[in-house]
Amino acid sequence: MLFKKVAEVFERLEETSGRLDMTDLLADLFKKTSKDEIKSLIYLIQGTLSAPYISLEMGMGEKFIMESIASSTGHSKKEVELLYKKKGDLGLVAEELLKKKKQTSLSKRELTLDYVYYSLVRIAKTGGRGSQDLKIKYLADIFNSAEPLEARFIARIVNGSLRFGVGDPTILDALSVSKAGDKSLREELERAFNICSDLGHVAEVFFTNPKKIKKFRVEPFKPLQPALAERLPTPEAIIKKIGKCGVEHKFDGFRLQCHKLGEQVELYSRRLEVMTHMFPDLVEEIKKLKPKEIIFEGEALAFDRKKKRYFSFQKTMHRRRKHGIKKASEELPLNLFVFDILQVDGEDLTEKPLKERRKLLEKYFPSGILKLSEMFIVEKTKKLENIFNEALKENLEGIMAKDLNAPYTAGKRKFAWIKLKKSYGKSVDTVDGVIVGYFLGRGSRARFEFGGLLLAVYNDEKSKFETVAKIGSGFTEDEMVSLEKILSKIKTEKPPADLDYKIKPDFWVKPEYVVEVAFDEITKSPTHTCGLKGEKGYALRFPRMVELREDKSPKQVTTTSEVAEMFWMQKKK
Ligand code: AMP
Repeated sequence: MLFKKVAEVFERLEETSGRLDMTDLLADLFKKTSKDEIKSLIYLIQGTLSAPYISLEMGMGEKFIMESIASSTGHSKKEVELLYKKKGDLGLVAEELLKKKKQTSLSKRELTLDYVYYSLVRIAKTGGRGSQDLKIKYLADIFNSAEPLEARFIARIVNGSLRFGVGDPTILDALSVSKAGDKSLREELERAFNICSDLGHVAEVFFTNPKKIKKFRVEPFKPLQPALAERLPTPEAIIKKIGKCGVEHKFDGFRLQCHKLGEQVELYSRRLEVMTHMFPDLVEEIKKLKPKEIIFEGEALAFDRKKKRYFSFQKTMHRRRKHGIKKASEELPLNLFVFDILQVDGEDLTEKPLKERRKLLEKYFPSGILKLSEMFIVEKTKKLENIFNEALKENLEGIMAKDLNAPYTAGKRKFAWIKLKKSYGKSVDTVDGVIVGYFLGRGSRARFEFGGLLLAVYNDEKSKFETVAKIGSGFTEDEMVSLEKILSKIKTEKPPADLDYKIKPDFWVKPEYVVEVAFDEITKSPTHTCGLKGEKGYALRFPRMVELREDKSPKQVTTTSEVAEMFWMQKKK
């Protein structure tokens, strides 16, 4: 397929806001796509080149993209920079300057989808000394053959700013519509995606042999989307909802999904990044496990030998450094509290009820560095309440109540797990949000050039970020300095394309960093766009930063519908 066709559809997607229209546009495009091309097309729509757990990053900053544009259009770097200042979007800059090209290339060729995809992969794979120059040249080569509209989207893909509000749910709908004419295949496609996290791979299997989607199974080294927890305000509400349940402590550590096949072990974070090299001590223990093939999940916590207690998430995160891993593993020994098992020796366990999975956990994880997370079987509210209070006394975050009959709900929040956390004011939980902008310090804070954050949650129905709070407190002086340092590196001229906002910060930033925020309650406010109805959206009252959550990706933040639920829950509390 010619890339021109793809660019035309991307342009129309940009002008479309309704999910149904987007689905139809994509489904039409998929109908014209061959089984050999569908995988690359899906990745490009996602604005990426591979599954999230395969590290294949472009590695080209804005400056280098501008150099490629300059070199292929014959405009000076200065001209490119000036136009970028004006437009605030490298895609539009590439498009405009290609229209006013000062030189024509002799080797111009028609771009195909495959050519564009594999050229971008080549840029991503170019590393080592002198690689920046090569990357600039390779990208300029693509621009040399590109039409202006094609260049708009190529520049945005490389810059990581291709956002037209097409989320994975819309792509899944469109895949189903492209083959079945309706959404009847959506559910099985979604399950396949949730248990391998690779939409490109799922689409390729679907186009090659659609029957295989129904029989899709969990496999080592294809991490599942982590199951998510619902929240309820009180122990009574939990017992009323799921009755007899398994209750575990909620550890504030680092979630790891562990895969073993023979001698090979990989560990994945919650955002499905490979973490194996960070935890050599865990890897050694996992290698010793009896089954040849096993996939399981747990929460890693560093242990304080002196005080004989576990460190918090923040301290445990110190283990995630690049250097001195061996020393760190001696100073901060880890335990992994194992709480679920998803596959063993080729058998996919995700559809089995928790009580059966639990039996297998007890069989394979008696104790040791890989510790079984203790589970209490609870039927009565009082007992649940006692366990919760004990957990808080031990400085834990709260508890997880689990439906013993539920399957593993990969990628979903379906009351299979319910969290009950220590509360802040009237709020039942904290919110995880992504930083979309920041404010300058005023008064005594002027010297920090940092006065607060603009925070957004994710509306997964609209595939948009929506603002929910302006956070001005909870920061130490050190934190203000380090926040300013990391955020000033990702400043952008324009707001993120997939953000709905009313309030403007002093600086916009790329939505990259996730923070956990405590607050007193959720109110309705005319300033924020979260769940906007009429004039008012939801907003956090007295928000204060708890910590940066490097383990969560921007789209894994709290959703708008969760904020709405919390708003109703605080009334019931
Ligand atoms: P939250 O991040 O507040 O939505 O809570 C869900 C997270 O709690 C999971 O992603 C796990 O990382 C963590 N967690 C801690 N203890 C447990 C447990 N016993 N069972 C399941 N998840 C747990």
